[in-house]
Amino acid sequence: MRLILLGAPGSGKGTQAERIASRLAIAHLSTGEMLRVAAASKSAFGRDVQAVIERGDLVSDDIVVKIVAERLQKDDVKSGYVLDGFPRTVAQATALDKVLADRGEKLDAVIELKVVAADLVERIVARATQAKACGKEARADDNAKTFIMRLHAYEELTAPLVDYYRSKAVLKSVDGMQSMDAVTAAIRRTIGA
Ligand code: ADP
Repeated sequence: MRLILLGAPGSGKGTQAERIASRLAIAHLSTGEMLRVAAASKSAFGRDVQAVIERGDLVSDDIVVKIVAERLQKDDVKSGYVLDGFPRTVAQATALDKVLADRGEKLDAVIELKVVAADLVERIVARATQAKACGKEARADDNAKTFIMRLHAYEELTAPLVDYYRSKAVLKSVDGMQSMDAVTAAIRRTIGA
């Protein structure tokens, strides 16, 4: 199964993508994770990526599309995958369409996690506090100031993808304000998994 999880920052898409991927025994492809790994390298490229993430901006389409296209060449995606955090712009979505068309593949579903934006800042700040309480380092972009920028980028650049995929008749919407388990159950019902 080839799935996309679409949702605002803090909507829980990372958690849900991981659960669904493990349930279906398919790959979980998180561009946020891939970019954080790239950012951790001490190269000039890594530093550039880190700066973009810390500002709450999006990394350029060219870079992200290249990373995802390369990732989709690996053997472990043959039985399917959950894309988490990609596509994030219409340009990324059309690039993905082309990659899929070249391979004669189609998406099975795009799952939109519907959330109330005003409640998300609290979730993100709580995530950072929890990480610190467990002795882990909080994500560099999990603070109220950067979060507002991430939300803004989402609303301006990513939210249009909801209509994009609705017009392709692959969109499924799930209420993301329920408990994590209820959201997982709703996604599973939606895709019959
Ligand atoms: P969230 O969706 O909760 O903000 P992610 O882990 O998906 O977190 O992404 C973290 C950051 O990585 C984003 O704010 C952005 O800077 C960058 N990023 C992730 N995916 C993409 C993408 N597809 N295109 C551009 N930038 C991306």
